[in-house]
Amino acid sequence: MNKPKHITVIGAGLVGSLQSIFLAQKGYQVTVFEQLPDIRKESIPAGRSINLALANRGINALKAAGVMDVIKPLLIPMKGRMLHQESGQLQFQSYGQRPEEVIYSVSRAGLVSLLRDRAEATGLVKFYFKHELMAIDFDNKIIDIRNVTTEETQNHDFEYLIGADGGGSQVRESMKALKETSFTSELLNHSYKELTIPPSESGEHQMRREALHIWPRGEYMLIALPNPDGSFTATLFMPNEGEISFYAIKTPVQLNLFFDKHFTDVKPLIADLETDYFNNPTGYLGTIRCDDWYHKEVVLIGDAAHAIVPFHGQGMNAGFEDCLALNEILTESKESWEQALPVFVKSRMVNVNAIADMALENYVEMRSTVRDPKFHLKKQIAFELERRQPNHFIPRYSMVMFHSIPYTDAQNRGKIQTKILEQLSEHVTSLNEVDLVRGERLVLQKLPRIDNQPY
Ligand SMILES: Cc1cc2nc3c(=O)[nH]c(=O)nc-3n(C[C@H](O)[C@H](O)[C@H](O)COP(=O)(O)OP(=O)(O)OC[C@H]3O[C@@H](n4cnc5c(N)ncnc54)[C@H](O)[C@@H]3O)c2cc1C
Repeated sequence: MNKPKHITVIGAGLVGSLQSIFLAQKGYQVTVFEQLPDIRKESIPAGRSINLALANRGINALKAAGVMDVIKPLLIPMKGRMLHQESGQLQFQSYGQRPEEVIYSVSRAGLVSLLRDRAEATGLVKFYFKHELMAIDFDNKIIDIRNVTTEETQNHDFEYLIGADGGGSQVRESMKALKETSFTSELLNHSYKELTIPPSESGEHQMRREALHIWPRGEYMLIALPNPDGSFTATLFMPNEGEISFYAIKTPVQLNLFFDKHFTDVKPLIADLETDYFNNPTGYLGTIRCDDWYHKEVVLIGDAAHAIVPFHGQGMNAGFEDCLALNEILTESKESWEQALPVFVKSRMVNVNAIADMALENYVEMRSTVRDPKFHLKKQIAFELERRQPNHFIPRYSMVMFHSIPYTDAQNRGKIQTKILEQLSEHVTSLNEVDLVRGERLVLQKLPRIDNQPY
């Protein structure tokens, strides 16, 4: 078995950049081709979502790569959801029940810039920006790379190649063309649009800073995450077509009426509502599932392998968990890529399919179920059961966001837990009416002990 010396990565997004650090730490020479300019040198739009929620799985990977200390100053903790009712009433819902159970808002551009800096600092990673992958010859291990500036295309050899080129992956398309993998792409019939809530005149956040704000409206919703400069990035998620939809809101008058009626409290805070709405792109959302993620010496990772909808805030987190998994599996297989790739794909694929499903379910929870008083009661019961039986019952949201329990286990345990919560919340309206002794009995009967080291 020959350990390769050199790895080629396509895509210097969040996942490609972190993966390069892991590879350099193992002593590989790494070349990364990225089609876009370098955001550290040229001001370019951050693309999808200006900020993101970073949670435990992502943090674990960043810690393992030794970069968490430099990233910490970028983070704003979000302790829970601040629900904005149509009446203007506010309700705060904690995400977890321990001080460390928070998620963090982080700037996409800030995070990717630091990861690239750290990759370059190893002395083993070389980024080529404005270089686009055009085609792959799997048999001869050659790629065609187009220099976006000169428009010339050149051939490059590779030993092993990692496709970290996101949801529209050319690497995945090349594998598909060989019929080595097929994939399904389920487009959601809802899209999104980003809007900015600027800081106040004194530079402060105009709403509570340490929260993820949600305006749940049934079929659609607005959310907002804080930025360090005092602004919030708000995202409107709405159906593409129908009575209330991106298709239906076409004029400033329609837009203003819509926000006056449904987002009364926040409308005055979105200083450039019309400009943002009509100038910012409408982003599509979807789920990509592949049959396979590798062929010969080429493997997919991150969104290229498994793009998911953003409603659990897990796309990047899952991609970072991929990087950590590949790193560990390579170590276990003594850097035999031939052995490691099938193990990596087998272990990750089933798990990312589970988070893809849970992310879709979470959209309904965020835009609709959170409005139901029963939902709050079930949350309270769930926290109480976790307090009483922490090794048997962990709320599903917490399993996904604050633990590293495999996604499939979180999904399976979550189904059992949902049934228990349904049973316990039937015919009652407050926590002190709930039969918690029965609850504990059900938990111990139905949920095997879980020995998990979460943090
Ligand atoms: C609205 C929204 C909100 C989100 N919020 C969250 C969140 O809160 N938490 C979370 O964990 N995730 C979130 N996500 C998901 C997250 O953005 C993605 O999972 C993450 O960006 C995936 O990283 P990646 O590096 O795999 O792909 P990308 O970030 O897409 O990076 C791929 C890179 O490859 C480059 N590339 C593409 N094709 C080529 C080519 N042919 N040649 C060379 N380079 C190429 C691209 O330019 C890009 O830089 C959100 C997504 C959306 C849309």
